[in-house]
Amino acid sequence: MDFSISEEYMMLKESMREFVKREMMPLEKGLLERELSLWSEPGPLIPEEDHQRLLQKTRELGFWGLEVEEKFGGQGLGMLAKTLVVEEMCKCLVGFSPHAFTLPPDAPNLYYLNDCCSESQREKYFTPYCNSEIDSAMACTEPGAGSDVSGLKTKAVRKNGKWVINGTKTFTSKCDYPKVFFILIAVTDPEASSKNRFTAFLIDREHPGVRVGRETPVIGAMPTWDLILEDVEVSDDAVLGEAGKAFIPLQNRFGVRRIELASRCTGMAERLIQMMIDQANNRVTFGKPLAERGVVQNWIADSTMELEAVRWPLYYAAWKSDQGYKDLRIEGASIKVAATEMLTRVADRAIQVHGGLGVSKELGIEHVARMVRIWRILEGPSEIHRWLISRQILRGKKVYDPFIVEKDSSEYE
Ligand SMILES: Cc1cc2nc3c(=O)[nH]c(=O)nc-3n(C[C@H](O)[C@H](O)[C@H](O)COP(=O)(O)OP(=O)(O)OC[C@H]3O[C@@H](n4cnc5c(N)ncnc54)[C@H](O)[C@@H]3O)c2cc1C
Repeated sequence: MDFSISEEYMMLKESMREFVKREMMPLEKGLLERELSLWSEPGPLIPEEDHQRLLQKTRELGFWGLEVEEKFGGQGLGMLAKTLVVEEMCKCLVGFSPHAFTLPPDAPNLYYLNDCCSESQREKYFTPYCNSEIDSAMACTEPGAGSDVSGLKTKAVRKNGKWVINGTKTFTSKCDYPKVFFILIAVTDPEASSKNRFTAFLIDREHPGVRVGRETPVIGAMPTWDLILEDVEVSDDAVLGEAGKAFIPLQNRFGVRRIELASRCTGMAERLIQMMIDQANNRVTFGKPLAERGVVQNWIADSTMELEAVRWPLYYAAWKSDQGYKDLRIEGASIKVAATEMLTRVADRAIQVHGGLGVSKELGIEHVARMVRIWRILEGPSEIHRWLISRQILRGKKVYDPFIVEKDSSEYE
């Protein structure tokens, strides 16, 4: 078993570390201030020229498309490379992209598209998506169904050789992006089991019948919108993958995001532990630095142990994704829960070590605490993940064995 990381990957990691120090850290204070005013003054988190400059620089430095195959203009490196880079990027506590901490092209939809696009969709959506000329958003959640997709009501029915879609989606991200298309999940066979009930469609925001509705402001600078679909008519060209077969690729897509989310958490936890160390060494109370108080030592020790207990399973899951395993249900669910809950505890301890400053809007620790609160719900709440893990293990009637791995994901239910 070899735990070393290749020189190429270490150089990438170092390069992102330098970028964060040089380009992102100087913006952190301004980003935190801007985030404060987002409620009263909606709009971009950072001035468009800064955003474009950072995008351009990350592209020049080779951070775009780390996991995208070279033939599609990416670096062809994979999830482990991405994980190492995202960890470094998240040491700056506020992401520079409008939806925070993502490097183009956003991975989960990319994997979905790569697995399922037809030739014409590859040209129209996938290639421009790889080059970040257009963006994509997932439109799955509805007012009556989030965790439990079996409750989805948006329907696509066949009429005169076309699909006609009606329904309402909610919590749809990125509706404000300049150019965006949706991967929209609709019910096409209400009587079928989950595996055969849903179809994914590629739909442009400007398509007739598509309307962006009410914005739902949430904590952590992550706006979302309702999406209303009224007699949206599309041809078979808009079907992503096979009609009725959206369930499995959808599950695979969630697996990729969970790895990415976990790497955001490990990066942020590392930064917060560093902040705790600095504060503990510098702050003197009752004649002694905080570093000499047992309780503070324990917070730092516990945070370090918990971070390391997440980091290695995370690297393992990323490596496994790079080996071509699609079924990352147990790995993805485990690290998503472990990483978000770890960061929740670390952020809480970091706030406590910093006292009043910890809850101030100046240091960014409370920003992390709010952000991670969303991540414990987004891409599946912790309870659902625990349930999925236990269900799979109980059905298999044996303890999870990381060395017995199936590449196939056709047995999903
Ligand atoms: C900021 C943000 C951005 C989002 N972006 C998108 C997006 O771009 N596209 C999209 O489609 N969706 C998006 N979502 C929606 C998100 O995926 C859902 O909120 C999430 O899947 C949970 O669904 P729900 O909110 O309907 O909660 P519900 O499914 O109603 O669950 C509520 C709570 O009930 C509990 N629970 C539910 N089922 C079980 C169970 N079986 N066992 C035990 N406990 C259970 C859990 O504690 C859960 O938190 C976003 C959400 C947020 C907050």
